[in-house]
Formats: sequence, structure tokens, C-alpha cells
Amino acid sequence: MHVELTIRRIPAEQQCMVCFQKYHPAQREVACPHCGARGAKVISGEEFFLESTEEK
Ligand SMILES: [Zn+2]
Repeated sequence: MHVELTIRRIPAEQQCMVCFQKYHPAQREVACPHCGARGAKVISGEEFFLESTEEK
């Protein structure tokens, strides 16, 4: 049995708690590109989807 695993990363969207601008961080922890503040709130997409495909 051959099993293939595919990890799909969903681009995260964060919102700065200081200037309330939304942005997509390139890395997990990144400063706000608008004002440089840290500690943004993650709005969506902080998931890694693990897909498995089984071929018989
Ligand atoms: Zn900001």
C-alpha cells in the first residue's frame, strides 16, 4: 500500500492590535508592517491541513 501525505498550509491573516491593520505574516511571528508593533491577533488560517491519500 502506498500512502502519500500532503501538508497544505493556509496563509494566516493577522490583525494588529495597535493600528488594526490586517496583514499576512510571512513567518509565524512578525511585527506589524504598518506600525511595527508585535502581538497581533490571528484572525484566520492558523491551521495546517494534513491530507492523506491512499492508493491501493
Ligand atoms: Zn500595526
